[in-house]
Amino acid sequence: MIESVSIPPGLSLDHYASYAHLALAVQDLRAEAATVAPALEGRKVWMINSTAQGGGVAEMLPRMISLLRELGLEVEWLTFTPHDERFFPLTKKIHNLIHGAGDPTLSEEERALYDEVSERLADELAPRLSSDDVMVVHDPQPAGMGALLERRHPGLVTIWRCHIGLDEETPETRAAWDFLQPYICTYDHSVFSAPEYIPPFLTSKSTVIAPAIDPLTDKNRPLSVHQLAGVLRNAGLVFDDAPVLYPDYAHRAKRLDADGAFHPLSRDTDIGLLYRPIVTQVSRWDRLKGWDALLEGFALMKRHREAIRGLDEVQRRRLDLVRLVLAGPDPASIQDDPEGREVLAELIDRYRNLPAEIREDVALLSLPMASRRENALMVNALQNCSTIVAQNSLREGFGLTATEAMWKRAPVLGSTACGLRQQIRDGLDGRLNPSPTDARCVADLLIEMLGDPQRRDLYARRGQRRVHEEFLVFAQLRRWLRLLSRAHGGTVEPVRRISSLPPEA
Ligand code: UDP
Repeated sequence: MIESVSIPPGLSLDHYASYAHLALAVQDLRAEAATVAPALEGRKVWMINSTAQGGGVAEMLPRMISLLRELGLEVEWLTFTPHDERFFPLTKKIHNLIHGAGDPTLSEEERALYDEVSERLADELAPRLSSDDVMVVHDPQPAGMGALLERRHPGLVTIWRCHIGLDEETPETRAAWDFLQPYICTYDHSVFSAPEYIPPFLTSKSTVIAPAIDPLTDKNRPLSVHQLAGVLRNAGLVFDDAPVLYPDYAHRAKRLDADGAFHPLSRDTDIGLLYRPIVTQVSRWDRLKGWDALLEGFALMKRHREAIRGLDEVQRRRLDLVRLVLAGPDPASIQDDPEGREVLAELIDRYRNLPAEIREDVALLSLPMASRRENALMVNALQNCSTIVAQNSLREGFGLTATEAMWKRAPVLGSTACGLRQQIRDGLDGRLNPSPTDARCVADLLIEMLGDPQRRDLYARRGQRRVHEEFLVFAQLRRWLRLLSRAHGGTVEPVRRISSLPPEA
């Protein structure tokens, strides 16, 4: 069943433009739209994905669609429910294979199932589309349906947007692409998040459009000093009993104690977020996020800091005071994620095995997920309090946590994982750890970054600028507008790979 999703208008472009530092980006976007929107008049742009709830795509689409509408485009959002409940487990399997995981055998029955569901959905959707329209299909679930619609509506412009990928070819990725090839080959154009994710058979008609952040969401909006302190206090991220304006959040952050359980902060377990140098990583409890080596690297640095030569008094004191914050979702919110629970359990064990004086300097935090708004504000506040934001991922599709941190002018220590190296140019916008499983490498980079405030400040400024130019929603929409304008003429030329990074000086 196909469903139309309605979207409240959200913040207007005028509102964004009322922030001095965003005004120019909005102006550029409007100028781009002025040349494109008239050409798309009378043509609908259909955005089609599998769900309106949950997942990054569903989160990103409403903002993108409401801004495109404000710019004069007629955009509709459709989601669907397959008639056969085996369909989503199959597309989940394909999704995992594109990430290099799972059993790479895809049977004839599985193809028959995919074809049958796609056929039914295409039958239902076909009468709503016109041959003049543009159809943007997101990810593998509706890819088959889109391919069939193209045949029924000659002239319909078709774009496949793939939000996932792996930067190497494995038997698993090959199996997924072999399965999808007959469908996605028929699209006029496809869009990927990084050049490395484009399968060879699509290189001649693909564009790279990187993910982007909205600078005014609760996760990314500027917080005044009082707002920041208020969020930390209401969220239980600092312990204090001074009177404050707003009541505490119903669900508050908790810190892991030596007993292996999460407890609210107390005077004795307060982290010192407002005063101490802080290294933070916020992520899901996923093995690929590189938690272990980050923790071990930090512990290594702490343990051997006396032996480090050439530090002045302040540098030495910074290494004494610095604390590591490892923050992720409240374990209660990941009941249905056995792997996440296992990763967290192992991390807790590792923490408990640290010497007591190092445990004091490591705060493993559970962030409640009950309110998305409050969770977003907690992440915002933590990133804002950080001397360094780490994202020590072994693999990373993109790594929005790095984008979010750079936007807030927090110096980032990423890794060379694909998504992170799209964003951070090593030594320019931050540092990249080439061996995220190697604790020693983490320790060396932390020592280097903590010891050099000038360079950190430079990374912070360049990082923010880089996000401004490349990874804000405005830049992303300009790329979409360019692609749509090329597409509507019927001849879709391969567009410049916008986000491939020529290393600058
Ligand atoms: N995040 C969050 N609360 C948490 C952990 C993560 O809001 O407790 C957010 C984080 O700020 C980021 C997103 O989840 O916006 C994770 O996206 P990213 O691209 O970094 O990694 P993914 O989880 O998609 O692998």
